[in-house]
Amino acid sequence: MYARDGFDVVIAGAGIVGLACAWAATERGLRVAVCERDPRCVGASVRNFGLVTVTGQRAGDTWRRARYSRDIWAILAPQAGISIEHTGLWVLAREALAWEVLQAFAATEMGTHCALVEPQEAARRAPWLRTAGCAGALYSPHELRIESRQAIPLLSEWLRQVRAVQFFWGEPVLEADARSARTPWRRLAAQQVILCPGADLTGVAAPWLRDLGLQLSQLQMLRVRPRNGLRLGSAVMGDLSLVRYRGYADLPPARALATRLAQTDADSLAHGIHLIAVQSADGSWVVGDSHHQDAMPWPFARQEVDDLILRHLQRTVAVDSLQVLERWTGLYPTGGDADCLLLAPEPGLYVVVVTSGTGASTAFGIADDLFSDRIATTSCVSDTCAPSSSIGPAPSSTSAASPQP
Ligand SMILES: Cc1cc2nc3c(=O)[nH]c(=O)nc-3n(C[C@H](O)[C@H](O)[C@H](O)COP(=O)(O)OP(=O)(O)OC[C@H]3O[C@@H](n4cnc5c(N)ncnc54)[C@H](O)[C@@H]3O)c2cc1C
Repeated sequence: MYARDGFDVVIAGAGIVGLACAWAATERGLRVAVCERDPRCVGASVRNFGLVTVTGQRAGDTWRRARYSRDIWAILAPQAGISIEHTGLWVLAREALAWEVLQAFAATEMGTHCALVEPQEAARRAPWLRTAGCAGALYSPHELRIESRQAIPLLSEWLRQVRAVQFFWGEPVLEADARSARTPWRRLAAQQVILCPGADLTGVAAPWLRDLGLQLSQLQMLRVRPRNGLRLGSAVMGDLSLVRYRGYADLPPARALATRLAQTDADSLAHGIHLIAVQSADGSWVVGDSHHQDAMPWPFARQEVDDLILRHLQRTVAVDSLQVLERWTGLYPTGGDADCLLLAPEPGLYVVVVTSGTGASTAFGIADDLFSDRIATTSCVSDTCAPSSSIGPAPSSTSAASPQP
């Protein structure tokens, strides 16, 4: 049976990408339903660091979307009762070559408002960093951190209460076309259907993802409690991040750094490890991560990988003893050269997949691009057909979009 009045937009998936699409649709006065196959979101969107990263994102669309998304998080968080745990990011350069990468980065447009900081000054401003023997650091003011496992349910609830989004929890979308989505229990009529399946490459969106050569990247993550009660004032990264994040890794000096790290940190690079550490309100830290890529990665977390991650943590932050409180893994899709796929298999049917592990940082920008460039934002189910309204600047480029399969 069809839902009584139908919806302007039906979305499959209540991760951050689906929720950001729901937000962008309601900004334009559209009536929205979200179907989530699980009783609550347990995907990458609640397993991540909650680090909304601007500095280090790939130049172009990804960096632009990250800035936009950070601004939207900053506006929505207080409205939805979401705490901003901390702001800013320290990138500590241990190697002289890493310092060269940071210097090159600071000279780009993306380095605006970031500061290159000498070790002594970094020690004064962030005494919890291990600056001894360091070449220097970069401080970025752009980042913010939310506790994803709390933020995603709070954002869903805000969308339900304030934006009247209708959620169907525990209802997988089994089939979709441009005018409807079918779950095991109902068929929802819609003007537009958006599939945001996250790491589910073999489900409802499989017909359009199958031939794109996507794989899954599996990450190991830890929550630790420092025994000295140390509090991080901002997020922290290190040398290995400079050969992983494209905003740094695409700069010419990063090549020499990659060669150097292949000698000094071959074991970490083999597991795709780089350090991110962030602080939670209860004093614990979320620390990671590693990257193992496969069509379906082996699901067993390895102690040696956790040990390497913790070794990088203790090299970067002044903590000698800590207790591991939690360990978990997470998956995200990867492949192709774009950071995000925006597919339109037919007018009115869209597939949105972040393929770079940057969805917490870019989802609002991606959703805004989708609605600004592609989706007809005129409501046809409301009593009066509502004209579209959009917020903020309407970027015109969707260069990350892939051709339809
Ligand atoms: C460990 C880890 C750490 C990360 N850290 C960061 C970070 O700090 N900053 C950052 O920017 N990014 C980070 N990322 C990446 C980021 O979390 C992802 O890019 C983002 O969460 C993807 O959101 P999503 O909504 O596409 O996917 P998900 O969060 O996986 O959500 C997809 C949802 O769709 C549902 N679904 C699938 N198929 C169907 C269907 N047929 N019908 C209904 N529902 C369906 C799933 O159940 C799921 O809830 C991290 C990722 C991981 C794994």
